[in-house]
Amino acid sequence: MGESLFSVGLLSQLHYPLQVTRLNTKTRIAIFSVILIAALVVSAFDAVKLLTNQYTLQAQKIFEDAKTQVEKIRGVTLPSVTLHIITKQQAVDKWGHPSGSQDLTNILRQEKIYKGLFMMQENDSLVQTTSDWTANWIAAAVGHDVYLLKENFNPFDKNAEATLVHELTHIWQPSLETPTTYDEDKAHTALVEGDASFMADYYINLTAHVVQASVNMPFFLVDNPLLDAVHPISNTMWSLNYMPYDQGKSFVGALYDKGGFALINQAYQQGYTPSSTMQILHVDKYFANETVQTVPSPMPDQNSWTLTQTDRGQDHNTYGEYFIQTMLATWLNQSASQQAATGWAGDNFTYYEHGDDYLFTWNITWTSVNDASEFSYAFSSMMNQTSASPIAVGEWQTNGRTLTLTWNPTTASTFIACSTVESATLPSDFA
Ligand SMILES: [Zn+2]
Repeated sequence: MGESLFSVGLLSQLHYPLQVTRLNTKTRIAIFSVILIAALVVSAFDAVKLLTNQYTLQAQKIFEDAKTQVEKIRGVTLPSVTLHIITKQQAVDKWGHPSGSQDLTNILRQEKIYKGLFMMQENDSLVQTTSDWTANWIAAAVGHDVYLLKENFNPFDKNAEATLVHELTHIWQPSLETPTTYDEDKAHTALVEGDASFMADYYINLTAHVVQASVNMPFFLVDNPLLDAVHPISNTMWSLNYMPYDQGKSFVGALYDKGGFALINQAYQQGYTPSSTMQILHVDKYFANETVQTVPSPMPDQNSWTLTQTDRGQDHNTYGEYFIQTMLATWLNQSASQQAATGWAGDNFTYYEHGDDYLFTWNITWTSVNDASEFSYAFSSMMNQTSASPIAVGEWQTNGRTLTLTWNPTTASTFIACSTVESATLPSDFA
């Protein structure tokens, strides 16, 4: 009993001080933590103060140098440019949201087109994608202003100045004629972003800051550690957005190889500006001045449909070769998609609405009957990969909409119709 009590007592005695000690330790640890956190906060605050100061100084320093570099490389004089340092959130607020109800309507309509062509998943949002893409920017140039996104741009990084060379190239670039189609817009953007990206690489090679220039992706997107932290952008949307930097740079590189900066400069002049993604993807077609064929739009027989203008104020749109390639590559492999999209000669995309219903038609003309047949086969293969149910030959249904595909060997063209009203998509329904 005594032994037991002793034991218990001993244990109690031992236990008690232990408890106290642990409590004390805990308390001390807690206080220490608080102090430590306070110390960290103070030092982090100092660091931020210091960093903000150094950040701005360093950014301004390389900005001035980049300005001199662009002027020297291109033999131009830049206007006075203001450098702004903003946060990622400020960039998203500024550029990542629809600019008004008309813009939102256009984005939602474009989302229906992407979903109708199986380029976007049913639960994805184009508004969100646009915002996510903006959050991935490192820098932007608007008018005579260059903006740096603080969280995404490190002025001490070895490639930081090249990013500014890229942005300052935008400051120099002459403005192009307003594009009237998606395809022409993409081609112009490919020249603009391609040139700026080419200049950044040119500067890197010139100063030998790095041995190897960026190969697949430009440093100003790749170096961003936050890229994976945001809502991931689908491969298809990424490909569409990223094309001007990637294929655009190859295009501009080909111009440089042929005629130096003089030939690149010429591309900004009326009559020399690339007019389609076909010319960007196949630079020989640019040099041969192979232009886009005008394609008619078969009219729906039901006159209840109201033709809806594009966001560029046009009755019809042209999506072009790169868009087609990207659409197919959402479901098929890259080389098969490229192969099937090559031979594109022109297309007419027309969008109609009737209440909550929509109908879009897409008439694509091909260089040869073989090209038309090839696309037709690839598109059918693509449709078989999607979750859409085949209803008849060249007809599929999913999520309350019907899509039909027909091809015409005599005119070497293919015709796609997609609508929430099945009867509106039937080939017999078109004049
Ligand atoms: Zn750019």
